[in-house]
Amino acid sequence: MLNIILFGKPGAGKGTQADYIKNYFDLVHISTGDLFRNNIKNETQMGLIAKSYMDEGKLVPDEVTIDMLKSEVINNSKANGFIFDGFPRTISQAEVLDIFLDSMKMNIRATISLDVEDFILEDRLIKRGKTSGRLDDQNINKIRNRFKEYNKKTLPLINYYKSLNKFYSISGTGTIDEIRDKLVNMINQLKLND
Ligand code: AMP
Repeated sequence: MLNIILFGKPGAGKGTQADYIKNYFDLVHISTGDLFRNNIKNETQMGLIAKSYMDEGKLVPDEVTIDMLKSEVINNSKANGFIFDGFPRTISQAEVLDIFLDSMKMNIRATISLDVEDFILEDRLIKRGKTSGRLDDQNINKIRNRFKEYNKKTLPLINYYKSLNKFYSISGTGTIDEIRDKLVNMINQLKLND
């Protein structure tokens, strides 16, 4: 099984790249952001809770997020592996993920970060907001709030995965195809080393 975490700030290109990588390596793509947005669209109780946080650019509480993630993995237990996109975003989510995967005889092979500077991300997100309809992409203060949340709660995950020797990074600037090729090469290399 090949389980990869795609890591990076909002707008780094995780979703775009995951869409390609999932087909290339035959993996199931789990995006917690997409799952929340589906719940919001379907007006579920969870969607209602998530919306109040997402609209402010804040993280949805772990209690809600972790259960949703676990169900998604269990519902796809026949998968060849997973690409986790937007999860984990806190140390406690990472710890729970490790314990949970271990209980399923699975583990994380690598966390791959797509590195992009903030000013490029802001530009990308504002542009995306014009077509995506996402409220959290349409306001610069909300975007900056998401970066703040990232710096405070998500950045510590870099050291978490470095200490497990599972942290890798590539530049997330360039064309989509260039980044995709770097990502594919890196994952192929990881597979060769297994
Ligand atoms: P994304 O689509 O990954 O940019 O996520 C959009 C929003 O969904 C985030 O700003 C959070 O409010 C929420 N979200 C997504 N994934 C998580 C997570 N792992 N933990 C907490 N909140 C999350």
